This record gives sequence, structure tokens and C-alpha cells, in this order.
Amino acid sequence: TFRALMMVDHEGKPRAEFRQLTLADLPDHEVLVEVAYSTVNYKDGLAVSGKGRIARRLPMVAGIDLAGTVVESRSPDWAPGDKVIVNGWGLSETEWGGYSRFQRLKPHWLARLPGAFSMEQAMAVGTAGYTAALCVLALEDWGTITPGGAEVLVTGAAGGVGSTAIALLSAGGYRVTAATGRPETQDYLAGLGATNFVERAALAEKGGALQKERWGGAVDSVGSTTLANVLAQTVYGGAVAACGLAGGMDLPATVAPHILRSVALLGVDSVMAPQARRDRAWDLLARRLDTAHLASIARTEPLSALPELAADIVAGRIRGRVVIDVNA
Ligand code: NAP
Repeated sequence: TFRALMMVDHEGKPRAEFRQLTLADLPDHEVLVEVAYSTVNYKDGLAVSGKGRIARRLPMVAGIDLAGTVVESRSPDWAPGDKVIVNGWGLSETEWGGYSRFQRLKPHWLARLPGAFSMEQAMAVGTAGYTAALCVLALEDWGTITPGGAEVLVTGAAGGVGSTAIALLSAGGYRVTAATGRPETQDYLAGLGATNFVERAALAEKGGALQKERWGGAVDSVGSTTLANVLAQTVYGGAVAACGLAGGMDLPATVAPHILRSVALLGVDSVMAPQARRDRAWDLLARRLDTAHLASIARTEPLSALPELAADIVAGRIRGRVVIDVNA
């Protein structure tokens, strides 16, 4: 048997419990993977703490990311010994996920471990970091941010998406401003390449429909009034990549920045992103994410710490990224 963190039905509500499983308990998908590492993303925090309804059926092994080695495969695409990663694809929502020593998965959910990263490093990136890369790609593909040009704002800066976005943007030569509610993280964020800081509170209050133009572009993981203010402060023709809701799911905004300043709101989803897009994001990470920066962003914790870590990330107490060693 092996240990897994499962979401189980407790009087009609999902509750996290450690369970001993056997291979016979796993779903009947084509590829059996021995998992080495998983991670803690905001969505994992919502799932494990029970604060958000993430699992759409129970019981369910949680964990939206995993890195491991193929043990058995009924698919021609994968062979025993292949090192693989999975980000999203409904893991922890409709499909069993990474908080388990073993998992069976569909072949098309797997990607080869990028050559630039160890399994532990790939999980230090995880969904949060790969989403930060999707956001940077969205801005660069849009084509209006320029190295050394108008500042690029990153909200939720000290979180997983935010930290990685700062490192990627700064390595790309952009001037990066970090919006954080934790002034004590400024040295850490400056170490990743942020050169300017904004108070989280300054962006959280409802502001005017059009404000002073400041941001050449932005990566937003907060949503709500923060995103509305960021749009209202973006320069003519600029773009904002939005991926998160750490400050709320609503968007109390007007069309003014879009119709009067041609500001673009670029939506970013990581879960169902097509493989070609994922490959481009991981390629960007391999080229731009300095391993020293990655080491300063991430720490590794044992599977047993998950309930506590889930409560911490939902409360905004996690700095950077947390890797989970599923065997510890
Ligand atoms: P995280 O590590 O917890 O980062 C979120 C950060 O947001 C926090 O560190 C905090 O930064 C800030 N924050 C927290 N509560 C806030 C509040 N009430 N108001 C304003 N700011 C607040 O989480 P993550 O894993 O990086 O994920 C960030 C967001 O992106 C989440 O909403 C997540 O669901 C979303 N996400 C979406 C996708 C996608 O596919 N679209 C993928 C990954 C993540 P400071 O302390 O620096 O202020």
C-alpha cells in the first residue's frame, strides 16, 4: 500500500484525509506513474482546506500537478522509465491527482520533463509558474510591452504566480513593479528583479474608470477591484494578462480603458491549455528562469504538511512556491 491525500465525502462536504491505497484503487487509465513530487497551488489550497468546491466527485485524490517516472504504459507514446510532468487537465477536479505515491493517467495529459529542470525544479515551477509563463507569453505575443519601456506591473507579487512572473519579466529586460500586501517580502522580490513597489491596498479600493496611465502591461493574479484599477491605469494600447482571483472573482470595471485607450484584457487559463502553448511556456521558463531565482522562490515540504499548507496559501501566508515530496 501507499499513502495518498484524498478528498472524501463527510456529511455532504469534501474533507481531506490521508488514506492507504493499492494500485487496484487507482483509475483505469493507460499510464501508471510513480510520483516523486507535487506542489501546492492556490487551487490546491481551496481544495484541501474545503474553502472551495474543487473536486467535482468524491472520493478524489487531490493535487493538480505531479512529476514522476512512468512504471507501466498501455500507450505507444510512453514507456517505463520516461520522466514526465502533468499540470492541470482536470486533476483534483474530475480526475485523480498528484498527492499520491502512484497515479494512473491518460497519455495526453503527460508531457516530457523539460530537459532544463529536475523533477523537483519542475514542481517548483508547477502550475503557478507555468501560468506565469503563459501570462508573459500572452503579453509578448500581444506585442506592446518593451524591454526598458513602460513598467510592467505584477499583482499578488509574493505568491507563486507573482514571484515567477517577476523573475521571467525581469530576465526579459522589462522594468517590473511588484504590488504586494507584504512589505516584508520586498528584499525577496527585489532579488527576483522587481525595481519598484506598490502597496496592495492602493490597488484594492474602488477607483475611477480612467486613471493616470502608468503600466505598459500587467500580470494579474488578484482580480476584482485590483484588476479594474490595473486596467484603468494601463497605458494607451497596453495589455493586461489576467489569471487569478486571490482578491475575488468579480470584476467591477467599466469598458472605458478598452474603448478609449485600446487596452486589452488577455484571459489566461492553464488547465486546458493546448500542448503547443504549454511547450512554449515551458520553453520560456527553461530560457529565462535562473535556477538561483527558482531556488529562492521554492521550498520543499512533506505530504503530511499539506493540510496546514493548504490553510496557509488560502490565507495568503505562503511566499513563492511550495513543492511537495510525496514520499516524505
Ligand atoms: P498564491 O501563491 O497564494 O498567490 C496569491 C497572492 O495574491 C498572495 O501571495 C498575495 O500576494 C495576493 N493576495 C492574497 N490574498 C489577497 C487578497 N485578498 N487581495 C489581494 N491580494 C491578495 O497563489 P498562486 O498559486 O500564485 O495563484 C494566484 C492566483 O492565480 C489564484 O487566484 C489562482 O487561482 C490563480 N491561478 C490561475 C490559473 C489559471 O489557469 N488561470 C493558474 C494558476 C493560478 P501578496 O502577499 O504579495 O500581496
